[in-house]
Amino acid sequence: MAHNFDLVIIGGGILGTSLSYFLSYLNKSKTIAVVEQAPNVAFHTSGRNTGKVHAPYLYNPDKKKMFAKAAFQGYDMWKTYSQLNNLPFKEDGVIEVSRDSKGTKVLEKYLKWGKQNGLLEEQIELLSKSELKKSEPEILCDAALCVYKDASTDYSILTKSLMKDSKQNGIKFLLNTKVTDIKKENNKWKIILNHEHEIFAKFIINAAGGESIDIAHSVDIAKNLTDVHFRGEYWKAPEEYYNLTKRSVYSVPEFPDYPFLDPHWIIRVDGTCEIGPNAVPVFSPYGYRKTENLKEFIPKMLEMLGSGARKAIFDKQFQELAINEIQSSMSKSSMIDRVKSFLPKIDADKITEKGTAGIRSSVIDENGKFVPDVILLEEPSSFHILNYNSPGATGALPFSVNIINQLNEKGFFVNEEGDSKCGPWIFSEIVEKIAG
Ligand SMILES: Cc1cc2nc3c(=O)[nH]c(=O)nc-3n(C[C@H](O)[C@H](O)[C@H](O)COP(=O)(O)OP(=O)(O)OC[C@H]3O[C@@H](n4cnc5c(N)ncnc54)[C@H](O)[C@@H]3O)c2cc1C
Repeated sequence: MAHNFDLVIIGGGILGTSLSYFLSYLNKSKTIAVVEQAPNVAFHTSGRNTGKVHAPYLYNPDKKKMFAKAAFQGYDMWKTYSQLNNLPFKEDGVIEVSRDSKGTKVLEKYLKWGKQNGLLEEQIELLSKSELKKSEPEILCDAALCVYKDASTDYSILTKSLMKDSKQNGIKFLLNTKVTDIKKENNKWKIILNHEHEIFAKFIINAAGGESIDIAHSVDIAKNLTDVHFRGEYWKAPEEYYNLTKRSVYSVPEFPDYPFLDPHWIIRVDGTCEIGPNAVPVFSPYGYRKTENLKEFIPKMLEMLGSGARKAIFDKQFQELAINEIQSSMSKSSMIDRVKSFLPKIDADKITEKGTAGIRSSVIDENGKFVPDVILLEEPSSFHILNYNSPGATGALPFSVNIINQLNEKGFFVNEEGDSKCGPWIFSEIVEKIAG
């Protein structure tokens, strides 16, 4: 193993691997490694999500410009990349339903945002209940926003393909390798792997998903922030429900501050259907099982009580929602009933198999408030990406370009060829599209 690297990326999720992909074209003479503790890339959240490539209709073009642009460009980039490499990408659209007139007002707002964010007239339309009935007779709603430019994929397959390309261009992937300690030594980072080996890096990028806060804390950054983890669980629908709808169905969030709480009716890229996710509070970014949560319960509680998360834990609305979600984990029908409210044909008794759960880590500030946006923190020899949540997988490619461009502009990690070709794209053209 080479012991000295110009750059080490911590985390082989879709974000760390997308960063490695572009850097593999732009910085050919640099030595770069991605360190991933799991046996493969996209082993955690990036390979355990809903698999939707989202069109940007949920994002306020003024307040969430970056998310909207990343989703808009990400859609086209994944489409191009998938076609080029023969990977799954199905333009199957999504329907967002409202259950009352208040919800319909929200859909009207989404329609406006979608168009402002670049969707064309033919890619998004608001249908009345009776109009929707003609194509989707099983859906019960007040109105429905049909977004034809929305797609399904398998982000695990896409991430593995990016790793293959990156490796061909010289990036090293250290799998089954956990960063267990980081220290500054003689102007370099000394990174301890699996408690025993050490490597050195001039620069680190922290793309460690649910552990990114811990990595930042370990180098004395973002000490005012903490995080809470939510397990999103899914139930697999039986085959007899595969043709219940033509498109996946989402519903207007009941609690706009917690938009990840409402489970959807999901048609996956392989045609199978699932219900989910919910958002059950857990004590670890890998808290898929009871044993892991029990092990992490005391350290996580102590961390939360000593930080801004304490205020969130004692917030009444948060407590009520958390109890609701825990209930939805313990009782299948409690989760399925939420989807039944717009797809009444579903019978919880016929749904018996669990899907693959994924964990979302949300950052909380010192006032106990959930931070709605991604947080980018830089210091002279490290860059940290925190709170990188939905639609993180959709936006990973353009978002990575944006980060690399930001680092280049500051002279942190200057690319050798300003106008490099990165796979099917020209780097500067993507930068322009995101900035423009
Ligand atoms: C339930 C759910 C559904 C979602 N659905 C969608 C969707 O349909 N569409 C969409 O666009 N987005 C979706 N998202 C969001 C999206 O999945 C995430 O934004 C994205 O996967 C985050 O990628 P990441 O690379 O930052 O994190 P991760 O995938 O978590 O990757 C971080 C990696 O860092 C590694 N790591 C951490 N610490 C260390 C360490 N110390 N040493 C070595 N390695 C380390 C971890 O093992 C992990 O593999 C969903 C999220 C959830 C939870």
